[in-house]
Amino acid sequence: MMSTIKENIIAVQRRLQQAASDAGRNPADVKLLAVTKTRNSAQISLAMDAGICCFGENYLQEAMDKIDQLRDTRLEWHFIGPLQSNKTRQAAENFAWVHAVDRLKIAQRLSSQRPDNMPALNICLQINIDDEASKSGFNQDQAIEVAATIAQLPKLKLRGLMAIPKPRSTYMEQRQPFAKLRALMQQINSALDNSQKLDTLSMGMSADLEAAIAEGATLVRVGTDIFGARQ
Ligand SMILES: *Cc1c(COP(=O)(O)O)cnc(C)c1O
Repeated sequence: MMSTIKENIIAVQRRLQQAASDAGRNPADVKLLAVTKTRNSAQISLAMDAGICCFGENYLQEAMDKIDQLRDTRLEWHFIGPLQSNKTRQAAENFAWVHAVDRLKIAQRLSSQRPDNMPALNICLQINIDDEASKSGFNQDQAIEVAATIAQLPKLKLRGLMAIPKPRSTYMEQRQPFAKLRALMQQINSALDNSQKLDTLSMGMSADLEAAIAEGATLVRVGTDIFGARQ
């Protein structure tokens, strides 16, 4: 019998493909990141069996437990949660990507703590796209200012921008913050050298991945619609 997780992945992949083709985009340009906070290694293994290789975690200790249990070089681990400065070393040593860099200091620490024998750590700047007091992230002006500095740091590759917009009820409303993020990436890119251009928009979750893909998402982060509701 096919696992529910596998069925869910097939359904999410169909949505992703449909949204990409509706937008005249190549579905291969949108990466599906399975978000596994609160899920166990057995659930992650089922997602791997269904062809998923990229997993996103929010809490370092929880992530380390699963990374140690699974120890599989085909897996690509993304840290998508908020990162405190006393946890940067673990992130730098165990992940391929960090999505929610929200301060220059965090980027500097990740850069100096990334082991020499590992490839550059891919990072995204988290943007507080709706200017919410409760959310972390750079505002748009700060991001423009800091991007050039972060792009120069060794052992990091500044790949793009990430955001978690506040919930909206309609598709057209959902597209607005994603369109802003896309425009911000273009603006940042216009000031960067060719070799430094950003290529990643980490945006869209279970409830709004179609709107994100319509506005250029290159990576969608999906938890609930793959693994079910979290407790
Ligand atoms: C939990 C989480 C997700 C996944 O959200 P779902 O609504 O469960 O798909 C995506 N991104 C971040 C940063 C998260 O914390």
